[in-house]
Amino acid sequence: MNDITIYIIDDEPEMVELLSDVVELAGLNVQGYTLASKFFEKVIHYNPGDILLLDLNMPEMDGVEVMRKLSTQQNQPALILISGTDKGLLSAAEKLGKAHNLDIITVLSKPVNIYNLIPLLNRKNITAHTDHLSNYLNPLDSSLTKADLHYAIQNNQLVLYYQPQLEISTGKLTSVEALVRWNHPEQGLIFPDRFIPLAEHSGLIGDLTSWVVNETMYQNQQWLKQNLKMSVSVNISADDVMSLNLPEQITELLNNNSLDPSSLTLEVTESALMGELVTSLDILTRLRLKGIKLSIDDFGTGYSSLSQLHKIPFTELKTDRSFVDKITTDSEARAIVKTCIILGHEINMKVVAEGVEDQQTWELLSNLGCDIAQGYFIAKAMPGDVFVDWVNSRNL
Ligand code: C2E
Ligand code: CA
Ligand code: CA
Repeated sequence: MNDITIYIIDDEPEMVELLSDVVELAGLNVQGYTLASKFFEKVIHYNPGDILLLDLNMPEMDGVEVMRKLSTQQNQPALILISGTDKGLLSAAEKLGKAHNLDIITVLSKPVNIYNLIPLLNRKNITAHTDHLSNYLNPLDSSLTKADLHYAIQNNQLVLYYQPQLEISTGKLTSVEALVRWNHPEQGLIFPDRFIPLAEHSGLIGDLTSWVVNETMYQNQQWLKQNLKMSVSVNISADDVMSLNLPEQITELLNNNSLDPSSLTLEVTESALMGELVTSLDILTRLRLKGIKLSIDDFGTGYSSLSQLHKIPFTELKTDRSFVDKITTDSEARAIVKTCIILGHEINMKVVAEGVEDQQTWELLSNLGCDIAQGYFIAKAMPGDVFVDWVNSRNL
């Protein structure tokens, strides 16, 4: 141990505990606090190299107040700012810290990627313990590597499952959402929550998205041959909406497959739009100009402002399933979904409810005027060929 100390202030005890464990495993001293006032009571002097990991959103004294107070002290630790809210806020806080002459090492959004954090803590001798860490942090996923995922994308180990979306007023099939899975040679079928974050962190998400879009178009053509005409939705990630040639890439794929741009909907989550809004606005507007439809996914879980929503030419709004699955029992969830429906219609968007698991929910959504439903009540996601049988068996 050397005499550098890493301080942590975060109102969530679990977060303090997790970050403390990471710092300790990295071989450094750590002191964690859930109250900023306690921190200021106890710590009055810092050594060179000391770092404070500071959560911005805290009820008692928030991170901005902590920075202001630090700036009045004799000497200060360097800072890493952490926040669960939007990136815009983080960068505003970073500017504010710099204006106070504080040494801001970086800003991190929650959930914190520990692998990004470790090298920042001690720029001299940190890497020794990281092997140890990978098992500790993510016992399940340490078995999935970037190289394997790269291989999987190149060698068709990925497969798409399709989940139907029905128009509530008529019960007709309008569209499907393509959901990716990894058919892993040893581990079997792996769900996206286990490898999309890896794709995003390792720079493979662009390749993955291209594969998904391409495969979707191939499948859509097969369905057209069987007289099944519908729109297909594909999920895209934050990095994709930062890639300036995405609209051209997708248009080329559509042309190569002789498909109409309106047969494709791209689903973007609210949180994906939190980065560089100008860049994503540019890309999304050009996608829309080319006739591709845009859906705002997991709506209600992020922090997009109404004016922001209005600037982006979305055609569809998907209310998050964490609200939808409670609307028959929880009046607050019902109010949220109802508001989403009214809001969506007000700005000319179709509203999709995902996570519809029973008849009661379907009927309530129908009464609330929701346009489209998706969920286990209708069907789980299934492979493309099974999908055709499903449609036939239901006479859709
Ligand atoms: P999502 O876009 O919100 O997708 C909906 C998820 O909810 C899917 O899980 C789906 O199977 C599940 N679901 C659908 N109906 C119900 C229901 O009635 N009840 C419950 N409990 N769950 C339901 P899945 O396939 O595991 O996908 C998880 C997430 O992975 C997706 O969430 C999406 O964010 C991401 N994802 C999936 N495919 C892709 C992809 O090709 N590219 C990218 N970037 N992300 C993807
Ligand atoms: Ca989605
Ligand atoms: Ca969703």
